[in-house]
Amino acid sequence: ERPLDGKLALVTGAARGIGAAIARVLARDGAEVIALDVPAAGDALADVANSTRGRALQLDLTAEDSASRLAGYLAAGPHAGVDIVVHNAGITRDKTIARMSADRWDAVLGVNLTAPERVNEVLLDRGLIPSGGRIIGVASIAGIAGNRGQTNYATSKAGVIGLVHSYAPLLLDRGITINAVAPGFIETAMTAKMPLGLREAGRRLNSMSQGGLPIDVAETIAWFASPGSATITGNVVRVCGQSLLGA
Ligand code: NAD
Repeated sequence: ERPLDGKLALVTGAARGIGAAIARVLARDGAEVIALDVPAAGDALADVANSTRGRALQLDLTAEDSASRLAGYLAAGPHAGVDIVVHNAGITRDKTIARMSADRWDAVLGVNLTAPERVNEVLLDRGLIPSGGRIIGVASIAGIAGNRGQTNYATSKAGVIGLVHSYAPLLLDRGITINAVAPGFIETAMTAKMPLGLREAGRRLNSMSQGGLPIDVAETIAWFASPGSATITGNVVRVCGQSLLGA
């Protein structure tokens, strides 16, 4: 018997990077996984769905009706709902404040913060997350400490933490927990596009052992999803190989 046997999990942004690792770890622990990503991620998403024996769901979370389409898809499925929701999809559009155009701001806030909020709102409103359910956000160290050139991203991730603290008390009566992870620098396609100097600085910050891999984040999320964390709600766990005082 595995800890998540019989559970259905939804992982957004699951085609690659941290999301793919989350899908694999939840499947390893027994969950049936719906791997969601944008239509353009098609083949990579199908690979993740195949390797986890789960389902692929192509959906752009910034599309106007995406939250209600997702709700319709889940309501029509054999579980008539979803036990574990992991809001992992995220993007960056870095620029200094002076060059932070409105479209960069809106794009990042839209994927990272508005999409999880809309999905939570619609799934909860339609009663599609049962008692025992888990909602897990993916914030960032940038949402706690801020980051140069990332006012949009850092603000979106601080907002994810705001969602956790605001929803947690509302969900107690329903038996649903909501928590988030706040990763530090993790080696993925998102960080591979950063300038070398920033990447090296990020790796140095993530100085604990070999830290900074998608699996580190995925294992923390698996714990939030597991039966053992049933009374843990309204928490944000940093996954960054650092103390609050720095490296
Ligand atoms: P990534 O860019 O490798 O993967 C993100 C995935 O999200 C992609 O597959 C992408 O297609 C998907 N996505 C983007 N917009 C979407 C949309 N509108 N609808 C559906 N899917 C969408 O990034 P990653 O490094 O694996 O990051 C995953 C999460 O972890 C993000 O929320 C990111 O902000 C967060 N995070 C990453 C790091 C890091 O250092 N890599 C650090 C802290 C937090």
